[in-house]
Amino acid sequence: MAESQRPSQEIQSVLSENRVFPPPPEFSKRAHIKSMEDYRRLWDEAAKDPEAYWGARAREELYWKEPFQTVLDWKAPNARWFVEGRTNLAYNCLDRHLPKLKDKPAILFEGEPGDRRTVTYGELSAMVNRLANGLKSLGVRKGDRVGIYLPMVPEAAVAMLACARIGAVHSVVFGGFSAEALQERMNDAGAKVLLTADGGWRKGAVVPLKKNVDAALPNMKTVEKVVVLKRAGDAGTPGPKDVSWEELVRGQSDTCEPEWVEAEHPLFILYTSGSTGKPKGVLHTTAGYAVSISLTTRWVFDLREDDIYWCTADVGWVTGHSYVVYGPLMNGVTTVIYEGAPTQPGPDRFWEIIARYKATILYTAPTAIRAFMRLGEEYPRKHDMSSLRLLGSVGEPINPEAWIWYRDVIGGGRCPVVDTWWQTETGGIMISPLPGATPTKPGSATLPLPGIHAEILDRQGNPVPKGQGGLLFVTKPWPSMLRTVYGDPERYVKTYFSELPGKYFTGDGARTDQDGYFWLMGRVDDVVNVAGHRLGTAEVESALVSHPRIAEAAVVGRPDDLKGTALVAFVTLKKGTPPSPELKKELATHVTKEIGAIARPDEIRFAEGLPKTRSGKIMRRLLRDVAAGKQTTGDTTTLEDLNVLATLRQDEE
Ligand code: ATP
Ligand code: MG
Repeated sequence: MAESQRPSQEIQSVLSENRVFPPPPEFSKRAHIKSMEDYRRLWDEAAKDPEAYWGARAREELYWKEPFQTVLDWKAPNARWFVEGRTNLAYNCLDRHLPKLKDKPAILFEGEPGDRRTVTYGELSAMVNRLANGLKSLGVRKGDRVGIYLPMVPEAAVAMLACARIGAVHSVVFGGFSAEALQERMNDAGAKVLLTADGGWRKGAVVPLKKNVDAALPNMKTVEKVVVLKRAGDAGTPGPKDVSWEELVRGQSDTCEPEWVEAEHPLFILYTSGSTGKPKGVLHTTAGYAVSISLTTRWVFDLREDDIYWCTADVGWVTGHSYVVYGPLMNGVTTVIYEGAPTQPGPDRFWEIIARYKATILYTAPTAIRAFMRLGEEYPRKHDMSSLRLLGSVGEPINPEAWIWYRDVIGGGRCPVVDTWWQTETGGIMISPLPGATPTKPGSATLPLPGIHAEILDRQGNPVPKGQGGLLFVTKPWPSMLRTVYGDPERYVKTYFSELPGKYFTGDGARTDQDGYFWLMGRVDDVVNVAGHRLGTAEVESALVSHPRIAEAAVVGRPDDLKGTALVAFVTLKKGTPPSPELKKELATHVTKEIGAIARPDEIRFAEGLPKTRSGKIMRRLLRDVAAGKQTTGDTTTLEDLNVLATLRQDEE
């Protein structure tokens, strides 16, 4: 096909959002990065000499047992960072803080039933070392894979750190996943030991973790031992592979010499959320990951010694790895861990937790924010949340209306909001405001962090002009980039480096505006082609969500004889709003008014709920099938609730 006949790969932008919020001056004054000049200076420095920049950051952020000489060995698409160095991530999270922070709370834990624990840095270090010694006694050696299938309790962090301490590679599986999903991941990773609990609390009920393990065990041939923590419920009769966690650690020494691993030693395998298909086993290594995570946590959340930091993610997701466990602990702050559901026992559980612990930073997902919006303002208003000074969002594009609500209702209008774009594969935050420096715009992740080369290109690799949407690439390596897809190096190349050789393809569509700010437009797979216009889903959805009666929206394309593709919108309504044909008309008109006739949905369907991954991302690929009246053939193991799909199909009939 001649170049000129190729279908355009541009994504048309239809949404305009003009509100700008400069950082509050008092915030900037005390921030790590205080101004756009500071930001630009760092960015330029990193761009001019990336190896000097990253080398300096690596020396500052980590304790190195052995120094490195080579900052980067890049043979695209394979990177090795800080090549000759040796370090240990558990040491960096714990031991190096102990002289000063032994008695400082590392973790403030709250279980769903209301039980509370404070774990100091000193206690955490001892717990980690005892478990590390215990794992060794079970025969776990450097490089062995260890599965972790636990509720959100301090032991989940202990388990990860104990693996890191002895150079074992952890693979955390979200505690809400089924036996089947667990089995698939453990087999792929070849886990030797599995750390689990009898159960965990969720929505007032016990999640039967151990029962799931038992169901999967006959098919998990590599698993030799199952270590069972007492938490909730009934562990059943111990099987031949079972070891009690409490007994395993009893009598173990509080000290454990860290395994000083090579910089590129694998740290963990984590399976992606599965929004676009079968999850990928993303492999991260030690030092590069640690440098990026330590730095981004401090800069993006502008950490201070006295912060009470709360990231609501589960350790089953990358956000839980980087910004519940490793990032905060490397920085020596106090992190809040909450086990259960946001609405248990009532819709204000989160706000109660913030008030109780006087949390200063909250980092959560748009799905949660939209759910809280749907419930109404009365719940956050009941609690004193004046301790908050910064809010973060991650996981999906945040609709401008949800952003404003978050800022006003949760942040009392005074807290900067950082919308952080990144992926399991990137390890850490890539595009985000720096809260003391960057003026924010609702719905924009703003600017790439220093050292991050995010670019919007077309399929031929040409830059896409400002204002137009294209494909988001990262064009230079960065320390916390994934190293491979575990056990499938071909999939690594095919998924991330085959669109444009040597350039990392994110799978997301985005545009930049006149200030160079990035606006994420949704996944490229989800782009809808309507009468020759390629539309990103995020903008049409945001237009729908800006209607006062709409809580959430998902937009997909359906094959249409006349138009080629028709736009189908699935929407959920705010509490107390009855569905009606008039409302459908009103919504279609609203979209036309907000962004124009090309984005006017051809069909609007009211839904009780939208199909989401367990991490709360809308799974549009399933909705495409529903809209087309087809059975789903894709992977549904990461789906939160199969009933949602069934209900959507019934609505149709
Ligand atoms: P899979 O790759 O298996 O389909 P996934 O992409 O959902 O799953 P994650 O790594 O958990 O797995 O999610 C990363 C994706 O989430 C990004 O590629 C992007 O689409 C979306 N995302 C995350 N943060 C943001 C954000 N701040 N703004 C817009 N999109 C975001
Ligand atoms: Mg992805």
